[in-house]
Amino acid sequence: MQRGTLYVISAPSGAGKTSLVKALLDRQPTLSVAVSHTTRAPREGEQEGVNYFFVSKEKFAEMLEQNAFLEYATVFNNYYGTASFWVEESLNKGQDLILEIDWQGAQQVRKLIPDAKLIFILPPSRDILKQRLVQRGQDTDEVINHRMSQAINEISHYVEFDYLIVNDDFEKALGDLESIISSQRLNCLKQREKLQDLLKDLLS
Ligand code: 5GP
Repeated sequence: MQRGTLYVISAPSGAGKTSLVKALLDRQPTLSVAVSHTTRAPREGEQEGVNYFFVSKEKFAEMLEQNAFLEYATVFNNYYGTASFWVEESLNKGQDLILEIDWQGAQQVRKLIPDAKLIFILPPSRDILKQRLVQRGQDTDEVINHRMSQAINEISHYVEFDYLIVNDDFEKALGDLESIISSQRLNCLKQREKLQDLLKDLLS
């Protein structure tokens, strides 16, 4: 059986990555997204095992020691990691899988799984990025400026990715994401298995 394709999707906070991935999963039910482990506290409405597996720093350290993570990173003073088991199991079953992770994790995945497809989502302008970060809550200027500099740092890694998508028009960005997935699925090696009866018939 053909192994599934691993997609890494990264973006600065405020680029709309989570909404895009959610809409993509609604349209492409055969895709799934890996649930990461994190030491950060759940936000309102977030569910254990759905948004993240929320674990203590001690539990995270224990998993690190057991080599349980494919990749991990520290983001905003919290640990985040993708459990290897989940990724390997999905890919071996032929399942296409998305990792919604930051640039540090993307770099690690690139080394371990070189045929993973790395996608980076950009906001349409610096002003709009700032507006989106301001709209997130009643934060102080200091917090917003900090988020902005983190976002610019994340964006500076765009060159390490295979695909760039600008999230200006949501539907257009979603369509761009879908075309990346469709093109991988049309790959000859993947199609060969699916189309074996047709190919046998055509070549008999
Ligand atoms: P948030 O706390 O807002 O959900 O996520 C903060 C950042 O951590 C985002 O850039 C998100 O993509 C990243 N992140 C979430 N899970 C993982 C993970 O498992 N590994 C890495 N490297 N980054 C992650």
